[in-house]
Amino acid sequence: MNASDPKPARPAARTVAMIVAAGAGVRAGGTVPKQFAVVAGRPMLVHAVTAMQAHPAITDMIVIVARDQVALAREALADLHDEVTIVIGGTTRRDSVANGLVHLDDVDRVLIHDAARPFVPAAVIGAVVDALSTCDAAIPVMAVVDTLARGAREDGATWLGDVVPRDALYRVQTPQGFRVGPLRAAHAAWPGDEEATDDGQMVRRLGGRVAFVQGDPMLDKVTHPDDFAAAEARAPRETRTAMGFDVHRLETGEELWLGGVRIPHDKGLSGHSDADVALHALTDALLGTIAAGDIGTHFPPSDPQWKGADSVQFLQHAARLIADKGGRIGFVDLTIMCEAPKIGPHRGAMTARIAELLHLTPDRVSIKATTTERLGFTGRGEGIAAQAVATITLPTSSSGALG
Ligand code: MG
Repeated sequence: MNASDPKPARPAARTVAMIVAAGAGVRAGGTVPKQFAVVAGRPMLVHAVTAMQAHPAITDMIVIVARDQVALAREALADLHDEVTIVIGGTTRRDSVANGLVHLDDVDRVLIHDAARPFVPAAVIGAVVDALSTCDAAIPVMAVVDTLARGAREDGATWLGDVVPRDALYRVQTPQGFRVGPLRAAHAAWPGDEEATDDGQMVRRLGGRVAFVQGDPMLDKVTHPDDFAAAEARAPRETRTAMGFDVHRLETGEELWLGGVRIPHDKGLSGHSDADVALHALTDALLGTIAAGDIGTHFPPSDPQWKGADSVQFLQHAARLIADKGGRIGFVDLTIMCEAPKIGPHRGAMTARIAELLHLTPDRVSIKATTTERLGFTGRGEGIAAQAVATITLPTSSSGALG
């Protein structure tokens, strides 16, 4: 490591996060293996890797994929800030973990995690790592809260059977944490012809004690097609608010477009596009919520293709960039500043048009207007100014760390 290396010095005890993502299961209707399916704007695997890398206790990252998934994995992980070692898995989960164990020289602890659990709370990672200071293994669990009952088959249907006491039952989650020595020993001793549910059971079979730590509903596994919608709904999200501002000159001989609506007036706004100052301010506010520059970054006025362009496409482009990141627009608010025309008679049409363009209900589109008391360029009728504020929610990359 040299002085310019941006990574902090490694903690003395190395802890590897190993994400098993070698499954071939394809999401219903999808074409990529489940772990590469996009939830909340990013492949599930990327969510899991990002959460692990953001945790200060994790020093190294291994991702285990099938041989024919290496290119997919490299592409999905290409933008991450920290290094990820990609290891080729085996035919079973146990084989895959064993292939990963080969890479654990000089490592004290390993957390083995399933890529089908994309959201990993930092508190669970911390609890598992902490437990390893006194135990060989620790796993997150959730107490079962629903009543459990057996189903009884009769007359070709399933009927209520006996209640199963739930007080000693737990749902087992990942990441499961191990001291590397005992885990290696468990893998070495495990009978080759028997499959294991998970590594916790393997360590236990060898006489090791596996500690429980508190799991989290965020860690629920994505298995069935319906689970994707549930995962989308529980993805951690952050709120972003940004503003936009624009001015265009009023001139005779131009059409007046404001808020996506043509307004009859003796003057119109001039500019390279249709000069819809309200949609421009709104587009800038939306671009601001994802720190994606401004309207000129995406549609340079120097480019002749935007001459006379309908500003609706600028707004839709910004909305699409937000959607591509898994973002949802919550509310937009516009203030139009001019002496004339009067905005009130057109407010309903503008609201409806913007709501339609952004796929919002009209109660999420606010349009206000003001004069500037005949002061300044707006007061003299030389131009119109518009100011916009937009609020969105965006899937959070755990701590908001890079990657
Ligand atoms: Mg403009």
